Amino acid sequence: MSILDQLIVEIEFDARVCAAQTGRATLAPAVLSAIRRVPRGEFVPREARAHALENRPLPIGHAQTISQPFIVALMTDLLDLTPHSKVLEIGTGSGYQAAVIACLAQQVISVEVIPGLATEARQRLARLGYTNIEVHSADGRLGWPPGAPYDGIIVTAAAEEVPAALLAQLKIGGRLVIPLGAPHSAQSLYVYTKHATGIHQEKILDVLFVPLIEGFQHHELTDQ
Ligand code: SAH
Repeated sequence: MSILDQLIVEIEFDARVCAAQTGRATLAPAVLSAIRRVPRGEFVPREARAHALENRPLPIGHAQTISQPFIVALMTDLLDLTPHSKVLEIGTGSGYQAAVIACLAQQVISVEVIPGLATEARQRLARLGYTNIEVHSADGRLGWPPGAPYDGIIVTAAAEEVPAALLAQLKIGGRLVIPLGAPHSAQSLYVYTKHATGIHQEKILDVLFVPLIEGFQHHELTDQ
């Protein structure tokens, strides 16, 4: 069995183990094939490359981490994407999660607060040939109004509460996947679904994410 096959087996195993909490014992085949297609080794620093196909988080510099592949797969699955979906990601980091979503959706707009990470991710995604991902350097707690409304919004850093701008920028029927909790304490992954009659909240799984940082500027930062 290849290391990639092994990774998929571990993701499928984690999905079964967590099924009582997530309600999803299996993940969509399209999500697993996106995990197979996106070369995670290209998204981590050279010194971590040997571990790129292990089912664990890895450092990506600037005190940030790329999530464990199972969590990337689960969060992608929870978005219930179609080939027509327009998705907003908050926390581009390496661009890995954006690339996985880009395999399944029509368009991904990703916002990263650290300009250096945004620039690197933008260049990496262009080099790897992803043409349906835009990366912006800004405070993602404000969402990205020019692209709104979105079918799906995914936040890959933990907030203490849901930023109101994100719910406002979600389409009716759209899904917001977000880890919530105080920094470095208990956090849980939630899915918010927007209905014409209101917002439905569902708690999914206990998780551990880096905190969402307070950005200093409300407009796109120049990082060139
Ligand atoms: N999704 C990324 C990993 C994200 S780590 C990947 O696949 O590699 C969390 C990221 O959120 C970090 O890059 C961090 O800089 C970013 N972040 C933190 N606060 C933010 C904010 N307010 N707006 C946008 N990005 C933010």
